[in-house]
Formats: sequence, C-alpha cells, structure tokens
Amino acid sequence: MNSSEERVLTDGFHLVIDALKINDINTIYGVPGIPITDLGRIAQAEGMRVISFRHEQHAGNAASIAGYLTKKPGICLTVSAPGFLNGLTALANATTNCFPMILISGSSEREIVDLQQGDYEEMDQLAIAKPLCKAAFRVLHAQDIGIAVARAIRAAVSGRPGGVYLDLPAKLFAQVMDAAEGQKSLIKVVDPAPKQIPAKDAVLRALDVLKTAKRPLVILGKGAAYAQEDEIVRNFVEKTGIPYLPMSMAKGLLPDDHPLSAGAARSLVLKEADVVVMVGARLNWLLSHGKGKSWGPPGSKRFIQVDIEPREMDSNVEIVAPVVGDIGSCLLALTTAMSDTWPAVPDGWLASIKQRKDVNLERMSSKLLSNAVPMDYHCALGALRTIVKQRPDSILVNEGANTLDFARSIIDVFKPRKRLDVGTWGIMGIGMGAAIAAAIETGERVLAIEGDSAFGFSGMEVETICRYNLPICVVVFNNNGIYRGTDTNPTGGADVAPTVFVKDSRYDQMMTAFGGVGVYATTPDELSRAVNEAMDSGKPTLVNAIIDENAGTESGRIGNLNPQSVVPKK
Ligand code: ADP
Ligand code: MG
Repeated sequence: MNSSEERVLTDGFHLVIDALKINDINTIYGVPGIPITDLGRIAQAEGMRVISFRHEQHAGNAASIAGYLTKKPGICLTVSAPGFLNGLTALANATTNCFPMILISGSSEREIVDLQQGDYEEMDQLAIAKPLCKAAFRVLHAQDIGIAVARAIRAAVSGRPGGVYLDLPAKLFAQVMDAAEGQKSLIKVVDPAPKQIPAKDAVLRALDVLKTAKRPLVILGKGAAYAQEDEIVRNFVEKTGIPYLPMSMAKGLLPDDHPLSAGAARSLVLKEADVVVMVGARLNWLLSHGKGKSWGPPGSKRFIQVDIEPREMDSNVEIVAPVVGDIGSCLLALTTAMSDTWPAVPDGWLASIKQRKDVNLERMSSKLLSNAVPMDYHCALGALRTIVKQRPDSILVNEGANTLDFARSIIDVFKPRKRLDVGTWGIMGIGMGAAIAAAIETGERVLAIEGDSAFGFSGMEVETICRYNLPICVVVFNNNGIYRGTDTNPTGGADVAPTVFVKDSRYDQMMTAFGGVGVYATTPDELSRAVNEAMDSGKPTLVNAIIDENAGTESGRIGNLNPQSVVPKK
C-alpha cells in the first residue's frame, strides 16, 4: 500500500456504535467511566442519543422500559464490575418481565481475570450475568462485534423477550481494523422477532373450549400490550363479547371505561368465571397462581392460554387449550376461525358483572371527591385521576406500596402502554428510570406517582430529569415512611423505627436544587393545580403531596406475603 491509498481504519468503539445504528438502535442509557467513557462520547458524536444517569440501575431500568415501549432492545451501558453489578439488577428485572434489553458492560482483561491476578475492577462478569438473562456473549475480536450485536438483538426480542448481556473487554475498543472490512462485518438483522403462527388444531381446540363457556373471562397481560397488536386484541374481545380483566400494565390496551372491562369487578370474575383466556399474562403470584380461594372452588375453571413461550403452559395449573404463538397471530387466528354463529356471552353473566362494577364504582366515587386535609390516598388520587383522564396520551409511572395499589385501581388508563409500574417482581426503584425512558422514547408528558419510600430508590435521577429538561412531573406521596409514618421505637431509644423517614421531608426542594419546579401540596386543589401546571408546561416538576401518615396499610394489598411474628411484640 503506498501512502496515497492509505487505508481508512476503524476500531472497536466505532464498530459497536455502527453495529447498533445499522439496526436502528439510536439511544444509549448508561453511566460513563472506565473503559466505556469514550464509547459514550463517540456514540454522541456519531449522532446517537446518549442519556447519562447517576446510577446504573436506573439506566438499566430505563433501557428495559425503552425495550417494552418500542419492541427494540433498550441499551444500557456500564463500566466494569461494580457498575456492571448495578446494571445487573435491571437486567434480571427485564428478563423477569419479558422486556428486551441489552446490558453492555466494559470488562477487565481476560488473562488477568481468569488467573485472578487482581486487575482493576476484576470480575468474571460473563459467568455472573448468565443465569440472570436470556443470553450472554463476550467479544474478543473487533471483527466479531457485528455478529455479537446481531445475536444480542435476536436473543433479546425473538420469542419471549428478555435481557441479554454483552461483555466487551477494554482491549476490544482500541482494536483497529480496515474500515471497509469492518463495515462488511456488520449485520442488519432481518426480521429480528419473527411472527410465530399458532397451529391450526390448537386454535380449533381453544375455540371448542371457549364455545361451551357460560361465564368466560379474558385476562390481558403486559405481553399483549408489548405486542403492539392493539386492533387485533380489541377485535378479539369485542367480537367474542367476553369481559376482560387487564393486568396492571395492560390497563389501557382497551380503555378502562370500556363496557366489557371487568376491572371493577375483579374478585367476582376471578371467582365465578368458568373459562379463562390468558392473553400475554402469566398465572404467577400476581394471580394467586391460578388457584386458591380467590379462584373459586377447585376444578371450577378451564384455562386457555395464548403465549409465545410454550414452556409457560401448565406452569401453575392445567392449561386445557394452549395456543402458542405471537399475540397478533394467535388472536387473529382465533377471531378468524370463529363461526358466524358464535354463541353470545350469556346475559346473566354480563349483568352480574355490571351490577358489581356499579356498586364498587359508586362506593369509590364519593371517597375520591373528599377534600380531606391531610390528604388520604383516595382524595389525592381522585385529583390525579381527573388529570390523567384529560390527558390520555401522557404516560403514567407508578410505584410504592399503598401508592401503587390505590393508584392502580383508582386511575383509569385509556390508551395502550401508558402505564408503567413495578411489574412482575413488584420491584421498588423503577420510577425515575421508567419515567426518563418514557419521556425520551415517546416525547409525551410523564406523570410519576411515587410512594416516598419508592421514590428514594431512584430520587437522585431528578438531576438527570433536569439535565435533559424532560417533561416529567413526579408526585411524591409523602406519608413520612414505609406503609405508614407512625411507627415508633418501642424501647424509647434515640433511633426512630425502621419504617419511618424524616417527618415532613421537603422532597420538592430536591427538584428546585437542580433548577426544576418544586411544589409543596397539602390539599387536593393544590395538588391538582401543581400537576396541571407541570403537565401544561412540560417543566421538570416535583410535587410533594402531603398524605396523612396514618393512611397506609402494612405492605399495601400484599400483606399476606409479609410474615408476621407470632411472639407478642414488645
Ligand atoms: P402480566 O404481569 O401483565 O400478567 P406477564 O409479564 O406475567 O404479564 O406475562 C407476559 C407474557 O406475555 C409472558 O408469558 C410472555 O411470554 C408473553 N409474551 C410477551 N410478548 C409476547 C408476544 N409478542 N406474543 C405472545 N406472548 C408474548
Ligand atoms: Mg410512604
């Protein structure tokens, strides 16, 4: 090669970025540091959006929610060992929730790690990540980056989506290769999440079961919301005329005020239904595993399950009609194969559901209008409920114990994928990561309704919200503690009880510290005014909503999962 035809070189940094970009992945959530600082810089220089967080767990939660909202894997970028471990919680959570994401972590030198010679941030990250995700890959040569990113994308989004780990040792980034060769090594993944068409006999078997139902029920889960087949889901429900129950993140897939929604008659329909169609929802702890008292007498139900993961079938109870495939293909096949003489859902069943709904909604409505000071959960959420109804495009983020349980049942959602919450693990700390990803990925306004404890896990990310000037309004339900703010130290010692926080904390000042708007709200009117202003202006806002410290209950609605000592308390 003479100097006039000097080859243009590329390196590991650029190849990683090019491999993502060629697959239309244009945003990275992460925390910079050794050895990936330059990766973030170069990504930004190459036109990617690089969102830097204050802690990797929140960057990871953001990436997983980006994956949930877009069906493309969200990317979380971290440094080695401790940063990787911080991101790992989010990776495991993404896998548990079936959200596609890729955790990319820099790592130390293999030779030193494997001989355990004490490298900077030494850790066998690949081995540690493996049991917590769908797939884990390490790349040692720059020419393999294209393949590795392609495999990571396919693993994350195909079949049941989930988390993938990509281990990139520091040395890889500086490896150089011929730019044209490098370009050729990249792969634009064709059809990363192929349709999975259900077998015809499975469809007919399911319809045979469904046809005989006297009290049918559909349960919609976040898998159905993720699928983005909203019309097909709606058609299936409306054509069959079967009442449905949305799991929390499936709220809004059909509007919560839809006449077929059985949300406000939840305990009735779970107990009384004779055929239950699970659609992208699992019979896990959130549904008492499909058995027990809440499900009526043993043997009183038959289950049909629509899911992309064959091994989900019979995980908790017998599934008499498994329909394996993607939500869109399965529900379309079911709807198409239904005869024109499909039997209507018996009137008695619909009437009893309506009656229960009316009673429950009536009972709730007066509580929502109260003007109690200090506020209780109902009147505070009553104010926010109206705001969400008036702004169906905005996205609701929700975590906490009581704050979660009450908001889930009180606040109606009207469009698909507008509610993001604690998901399958009931994890605390997703709030700010989810809110940031929602704002970045959709450009919509975001309202995050947070318990004061839940908010604390990711509270420092209000700086991130201000730094990127995101249209996020955080409402902290401040009741001075976990569950309640009233516990005391029975010994009379100087330490406060383990469940309480500093009384009357000024969370609003955390937002003003970084240039955002902070509001201290003690009445439903003040709360309403502050949140409306924030949702109009789009300015980063934190409303500190003062809630009666007596108002919560222990562990919210899952107190049954919290063992209590039988030895009398001092
Ligand atoms: P929820 O908590 O709302 O009940 P889960 O996360 O428990 O929802 O269940 C979601 C289910 O949806 C998982 O079993 C997953 O395999 C399934 N799923 C995810 N994406 C799809 C899809 N595109 N098609 C079919 N099933 C899907
Ligand atoms: Mg609290």
